Amino acid sequence: MAPKDVLTSIVLEYYKRANLELPEDMYLREFALQPMHSSSYVRHLAFRSASELRNYILSNVPRHLYFSSARYRDPSCSDMQAKGWLGSDLVFDIDADHLQACMDKAVELKFCASCGELLNENDKKCPRCGSSNVVELDYVPKECIYAARDEMMKLVEAVEQELGYTTYTIAFSGNRGFHLRIQLDGADALMSGEMRREIVSYLKLEGIDPTQFMIVEKRRRGKRILTLPPRTKDPGVKGRIARSLLRMVASDELACKVIRGETADYRALARVANSVNAVLMDAIREAAIVVDEKVTMDISRLVRIPGSINGKSGWLCRCVSVNKLQQFEVAEDVVSPIPGAVVEVRLLVSLPRIRIIDEEVGGKRGDKLRLTSLAALFLAFKGVARIVAIRR
Ligand SMILES: [Zn+2]
Repeated sequence: MAPKDVLTSIVLEYYKRANLELPEDMYLREFALQPMHSSSYVRHLAFRSASELRNYILSNVPRHLYFSSARYRDPSCSDMQAKGWLGSDLVFDIDADHLQACMDKAVELKFCASCGELLNENDKKCPRCGSSNVVELDYVPKECIYAARDEMMKLVEAVEQELGYTTYTIAFSGNRGFHLRIQLDGADALMSGEMRREIVSYLKLEGIDPTQFMIVEKRRRGKRILTLPPRTKDPGVKGRIARSLLRMVASDELACKVIRGETADYRALARVANSVNAVLMDAIREAAIVVDEKVTMDISRLVRIPGSINGKSGWLCRCVSVNKLQQFEVAEDVVSPIPGAVVEVRLLVSLPRIRIIDEEVGGKRGDKLRLTSLAALFLAFKGVARIVAIRR
């Protein structure tokens, strides 16, 4: 087999036995894919069963595979009007590179596609060979992925306690983010994009006035009183801010008691007022949940299918159960389509030493490296290495 087809054959072999997590009403969903060697998408596909879908993808090997968050009367119809929209799930996307904790950590390297030279950010042409063909390698350290996981923990808590939804699917995207999909029925499913945007705005705590949560002195019926800070037993946003506050004042026993609502005594409030007020802005910032507004607003959004390969990384998009989310890690046995394989790759670029999850990789163009499948697939799907041998 020609080396350029190694990736296609890995993907094909994987889909022969892949366990794709599909919604029960899959026959009402539009499916879409990007084929392995194409830059355009094939949309408006419809399948009645998982085996029908499998047969299709075995002859049209996908780099990316999606179903719609929407249900349609006629999902294969290409005219969005005539498709007959029946409602959409509520979808959230948390991407590591939108998070404050990850802002300066995302890395983008540019290489010359012809000679493999590492380029500077602003190079339009390769200084070595003059070519203007570029290969890009973007990645984030694992801490960023785990920051996105922690953000998802916050989202799950808000979805359950504030929005009142208890049935949902969480998935690792296979690259650097997490998805949450709430299957909606009835009137909820018919929410407009604008209504969904308001949910995002609520989760992000947009336009919130921090002063309303401060402990301040007021006079009520001639008596001096102190207003209460957010407390964990408060519903909605106040409860969420209180949970953040609690983490920030953890070492202050009295402040914890106040925020847990165990005391509302004037003297206790007076003693903790300054320290609670001082961390309030930080608590609000931490309580805001950074979800991608565009994704949630879009009622005809395509959702990456859990169990499918993410063509940006070669890793699997995987469902994560809520009680395992906190412990989730990007590990070979969880996200590799060929777990346990030792993979030999040849570098197509001169790669500075970088760390892919826990593995240091790097070398000159033409160097052969023996890597775990996790690192090898990542480099190969990014186009900076070619797989030459797989030992299982
Ligand atoms: Zn060059």
